[in-house]
Amino acid sequence: MNAALTAFLEKIEERSSQYIGYPVATDFDYSALFPLLQYGLNNVGDPFRDAHTDMHTKSFEREVLRFFAALFHAPEHDWWGYVTNGGSEGNLYGLYLARELYPNGMVYYSEATHYSVQKNIQLLGMQSIVIRCKENGEMDYEDLKETVQMHRHQPVIILANTGTTMTEAKDDIPTIKDILKKFAIKNHYIHCDGALAGTYLALLEKGNFDFRHGADSVAISGHKFIGSPIPCGVVLVKRSYKERIGRPVSYIGNVDTTITGSRNAISPMFLWYAITKMGKNGLLQRAKDGMDLAAYTVHQMQHAGIPAWRNDHALTVLFPQPSERLCHLWQLASENGWSHLICMPGVTKAHIDRFVQDLKEEKEAGALHTSTHGTYDAVLTS
Ligand SMILES: *Cc1c(COP(=O)(O)O)cnc(C)c1O
Repeated sequence: MNAALTAFLEKIEERSSQYIGYPVATDFDYSALFPLLQYGLNNVGDPFRDAHTDMHTKSFEREVLRFFAALFHAPEHDWWGYVTNGGSEGNLYGLYLARELYPNGMVYYSEATHYSVQKNIQLLGMQSIVIRCKENGEMDYEDLKETVQMHRHQPVIILANTGTTMTEAKDDIPTIKDILKKFAIKNHYIHCDGALAGTYLALLEKGNFDFRHGADSVAISGHKFIGSPIPCGVVLVKRSYKERIGRPVSYIGNVDTTITGSRNAISPMFLWYAITKMGKNGLLQRAKDGMDLAAYTVHQMQHAGIPAWRNDHALTVLFPQPSERLCHLWQLASENGWSHLICMPGVTKAHIDRFVQDLKEEKEAGALHTSTHGTYDAVLTS
């Protein structure tokens, strides 16, 4: 048993030094929280009700929620939320609320939307239409306009992206609201999937995606930019909407307002620890460092003759897909002949320099396809 554990630990330690393809921060040290793992803690039920036992971390969870409510400009006396198991659960929750408000609503989401959204829509038995994307991965508002017009008798539920999975494109909520206004659609709901970029864009005060801009709910992933050894996330909604779905349960002395019953009580502690230790300014600095590194990455690749690009205020850098060997070595995600790396906290200049060197060697050996069937040509020349 010990040998198996030791071998596994050695392997992941080594592989974590070449982990640039997926959006998770790796610069954390939560060892101060390790003693918590000796207890069977559980945040079952509503985070704003403490209920029967003391074996929970809800007061910390509420601090985390207050931090994000302020960050996303949630209406001061009309918000609610909880720490989820990740961005997907937050999106499921947002769509669930939207369905309770508008059972007859049509969900619109772009073709670059995270794969879990379609499954969630199916689970909820909702109707939906996929909207085309512009070349950079942002929703094509002309296509949205035409499609909404054809279904203008139905309530509109929009799932807007703040950072698509592949290119980190952002759907602009004010533009979407203008379209709804143009067709006089009164019954609408906008959920923002900020799993990837929501946290750092809000810190940088970039992007049009929070409650101020018209979102009715926002979901983020906690293990991505903040960083957490256990996947987690946060969902925030308008409290007046959520009050339609809670059901009191005497067995837990609480209200069943969340998707799951038992809820992870440790992941709110990771988020609380990171937020408290780094503070808003420390987190902002981390976001700025990531942006600088992403700009550096694009520059270094282009300098080496590799057609790299990124969206505005994105940590994600796209470049032609290298060999299978390099994709595996650096744990890269690829789609349609393109790969990306993501300058999340923990990725350093040294990682980038080593990786660009590897790419250059493939290019010089004639093994890197720099012609990529025209995909992203318009983005590259703009
Ligand atoms: C990661 C991601 C998700 C899913 O979040 P999980 O935390 O993995 O459940 C959803 N949408 C986008 C855009 C993502 O990047």
